[in-house]
Amino acid sequence: MNVIVCLKQVPGTAQVKIDPETNTLIREGIENVINPFDTYALEEGVRLKERFGGKVTAMSMGPPQAEGALREAVSLGADEAILLSDKAFAGADTWATAYTLASAVNKLGQYDIIICGRQTLDGDTGQVGPELSEMLEVPFVAYVSRIEEIADGQMRVQRMVEEGHEVIEAPLPTVITVVKEINVPRLPSLRGIVKSKSAVIPVWTVPDLGVDQSRVGLAGSFTKVIKVFFPQRVCQGEIFQGELGNQVECLMGKLKDAGLV
Ligand SMILES: Cc1cc2nc3c(=O)[nH]c(=O)nc-3n(C[C@H](O)[C@H](O)[C@H](O)COP(=O)(O)OP(=O)(O)OC[C@H]3O[C@@H](n4cnc5c(N)ncnc54)[C@H](O)[C@@H]3O)c2cc1C
Repeated sequence: MNVIVCLKQVPGTAQVKIDPETNTLIREGIENVINPFDTYALEEGVRLKERFGGKVTAMSMGPPQAEGALREAVSLGADEAILLSDKAFAGADTWATAYTLASAVNKLGQYDIIICGRQTLDGDTGQVGPELSEMLEVPFVAYVSRIEEIADGQMRVQRMVEEGHEVIEAPLPTVITVVKEINVPRLPSLRGIVKSKSAVIPVWTVPDLGVDQSRVGLAGSFTKVIKVFFPQRVCQGEIFQGELGNQVECLMGKLKDAGLV
């Protein structure tokens, strides 16, 4: 079973700064962590390896410091890790991100299942998983909460929907996104930590992937973040005192003054 886990390194703090020129997050010099949903994706990948044999490859597109997230992934059970990093990848929207990841998957060759997290803490769009499956022209299942069975090139999973669960069958290879109900991520083992220290993590750049440079990063992004701002908190609350009837009258008066009723 060849499992690829896509994981993103995200700011581990809310104290983030925005690059005024590109309107993208400044990721250097702040505490970064593996995107929380991706820790469930990684754990599920390792459990599939334990159930069916094979290997887990962790893959991330990000700045050089994203290597830290991949080294952590090795300490948590990934066999191999690959960093897709090139100045040209910076500022990518989800489409450009998915294109870059798809190019790396095609370069890797044979795989059975790609596991992504439901969404990231920063971009939070949940778009990369489905876009990746579209670009690889393989099936996609979102919000997987249990992998019931994998046999004869088919997998059967449970996915969360508002009313409960659906059971879906799909042929391999397939891309899935997972929810946090799927498992409880393990802590790194001593053996894993030792292995992660010496792990060789190749860095693939534009030439390594042979990608069309106009389709990656800011250049390849259909959507551009044109402004990022933190809404000003304006506390203008007012507490009405006295009898309920009086309070309602006051409120209605305010609403009328404001032209809201
Ligand atoms: C505040 C903010 C707002 C943004 N808004 C938009 C927007 O509206 N539209 C848009 O197109 N882009 C947007 N972006 C850019 C977007 O964050 C990046 O394109 C990002 O690489 C992928 O989108 P996401 O973070 O929403 O990922 P999601 O689609 O939420 O991620 C789902 C899963 O895909 C995998 N994945 C995602 N990114 C990577 C990666 N770099 N490496 C490996 N695996 C990955 C992970 O498994 C992850 O759990 C925004 C970025 C920020 C910081």
